[in-house]
Amino acid sequence: MQILKLTCKNLRDKIAAGEIKSINAVSAVFEQIEKNDAKIGAYISTFKEQSFAKAKEVDEKIAAQKPVGALAGVPIAIKDNMCSTFGATTCGSKILQNFHSPYDATAVEKLLAADAVIVGKTNLDEFAMGSSTENSGIKQTVNPLDYSRVPGGSSGGSAAAVAAEMCFAALGSDTGGSIRQPAGFCGIAGLKPTYGRVSRYGLVAYGSSLDQIGPLTKNVEDCALILNVIAGHDEKDSTSIDEKIAPVQDWLATVNTKPQNFKIAVVPELFKGADSEVVAAVKNAIEFYKKNGAEIIEISMPHFDYAIATYYLIATAEASSNLARYDGVHYGHRSKNANDYIEVYSKSRDEGFGPEVKRRIMLGTYALSSGYYDAYYLKALKARNLIRGDFTAAFAKADYIIMPTSPTTAFKIGEKTNDPLQMYLSDIYTIAVNLAGVPAISVPCGNDNNLPIGLQIIAPAFEEAKLLQIARLFEISRP
Ligand code: GLN
Repeated sequence: MQILKLTCKNLRDKIAAGEIKSINAVSAVFEQIEKNDAKIGAYISTFKEQSFAKAKEVDEKIAAQKPVGALAGVPIAIKDNMCSTFGATTCGSKILQNFHSPYDATAVEKLLAADAVIVGKTNLDEFAMGSSTENSGIKQTVNPLDYSRVPGGSSGGSAAAVAAEMCFAALGSDTGGSIRQPAGFCGIAGLKPTYGRVSRYGLVAYGSSLDQIGPLTKNVEDCALILNVIAGHDEKDSTSIDEKIAPVQDWLATVNTKPQNFKIAVVPELFKGADSEVVAAVKNAIEFYKKNGAEIIEISMPHFDYAIATYYLIATAEASSNLARYDGVHYGHRSKNANDYIEVYSKSRDEGFGPEVKRRIMLGTYALSSGYYDAYYLKALKARNLIRGDFTAAFAKADYIIMPTSPTTAFKIGEKTNDPLQMYLSDIYTIAVNLAGVPAISVPCGNDNNLPIGLQIIAPAFEEAKLLQIARLFEISRP
């Protein structure tokens, strides 16, 4: 049997049943990494010794019939913007290249408590700012399906690691699409949970009101399994949801239930901006749902057009504040060329941050400055409310909204690096979801020239169970 072809859930079941040893899964993963990652560049760091030790521990527990966690022995990767006490936490930045966290992020702690084997930390756009992983200050990641193309971003390393079978699942973070878009570009599943569903404690902050951790996996069932492990209230994150309001559910237990009597909203005017092959694939998916009992309704989301401008004001404003902590004193890189304390700040930041991060800090600082706060930041907050209102209105009429994940398939490396606005525009379908805080998933729905196309399904806040079910239905029975 080819271990690497298994899904996370299959592997977990086989390890628990004693049919496969975790140590063999870990060996298979490291062989794959050693064979392919020099070209793909998905990982910033790997933990071979620690992984084998953990696998051995799990195998021994299983042999002794001791209880094990929900991901026992399964090799998993995490995006390198989640703090871990093992290895460095670089966030894809030179400023944090040698930063070693004194604590584990809650999501990481939960993976470890579920007996997962964390094999490595994956590459990303510096501070998760980007849509192609080309803004990484550490290395380049390529799309495993076509090495001349980007894997998407900012969780490009996580998506590439899953797609190239260099782990069985990975965690990413999604501020404006960074789980869904790379999942779409690499032909895998990616879930952005509802804001507040998964603790952000220990996730290096980019846009705190938008950031959310979630899984990138081979299929929807695995998204459910990983969500089961990482979701839940955390007293260390004041924005994580109270379990009395939104309890953690067993999403794996319900993911294969066929949804009945559901309504899907589509927004015809939004198809205008996408490539014709993308539109055709998404329309086929809508037809599929129609045949499977969905009522399709057409709606308009009048404020959607403002999403990119709104997002790039709010995200950069929050980033400019969050990134003020990198001062050459508290964390990370300190310039060796500073002659006084002002220069410690300015030179450390100048040497440590890459061009896109600098651009965003400047944009955000500008939007928050006293003369422009009302005109830009406050306006953006108002626009955010209107965009949220579009979602509320849509969900009053339908259970789900469907649209493409991205307007195109994976683009060529270098194609958009000189034109940041073009890069920002490629987020059109994903960012409004973060502004509204609702959950969304991307699943593969077709190909154009052998490159995968992502279907995005959006649900109301805390309706992950329903969201996973409808995505799973498509995955198991699409033509
Ligand atoms: N591409 C978007 C940005 O550059 C989203 C990134 C993300 O979700 N982390 O901000």
